[in-house]
Amino acid sequence: AAMRQVPRDLFVPEALRGKAYGDHSLPIGFGQTISQPYIVGVMTSRLSLEPSHKVLEIGTGSGYQTAILSRLARTVYSLERIDELARRASALLKTLGCQNVSVKAFDGTYGYPAAAPYDRILVTAGTDEVPEPLLAQLAVGGRLVVPIGPPDRQRLRVIRRRKTDFAQEDGESVVFVPLVGKFGRVRAGLRP
Ligand code: SAH
Repeated sequence: AAMRQVPRDLFVPEALRGKAYGDHSLPIGFGQTISQPYIVGVMTSRLSLEPSHKVLEIGTGSGYQTAILSRLARTVYSLERIDELARRASALLKTLGCQNVSVKAFDGTYGYPAAAPYDRILVTAGTDEVPEPLLAQLAVGGRLVVPIGPPDRQRLRVIRRRKTDFAQEDGESVVFVPLVGKFGRVRAGLRP
């Protein structure tokens, strides 16, 4: 129902609007993509969101996934390393009335300690290691969903923080653009 309420055509470049409701990812500029709707649905359901939840998202991109999170959770903090994408997504989310969302432009592998801990954390870019700061900012009883693996193929990992340790489980095969940052596979400036 949340996905039906969000007009995906507004999140893709004008020239691609005709393709906005196909089940595929699409380019959004800066070498980045808006995720395939099916995968957005899978990731959202893996989060098991409740209306009271405070959520941290890494990789705002177009803001499409953010808009869906905003309909299902209490508050959403979303981090995007590319300024222009963050600016556009933030403006569009405001236009759509998503008042519980805050988009920030910086390297999300640091997380956002100012508002931690988070009930749920969603990473929408691929990495072969979970950035440590994100584990630290996950609430006890919380869940983190992250695509883990090499650049050409990852598995959707669900990590649950228990009282004294973390439990994890790998799910669907997915392909995401790389997470680029201080913590995580690709160190900014070293590789594309
Ligand atoms: N959920 C988004 C997916 C965007 S693709 C959508 O459906 O539109 C992944 C995004 O993660 C890209 O915009 C990329 O710039 C961003 N990204 C990659 N590494 C990042 C990092 N360290 N911090 C914040 N954003 C990052």
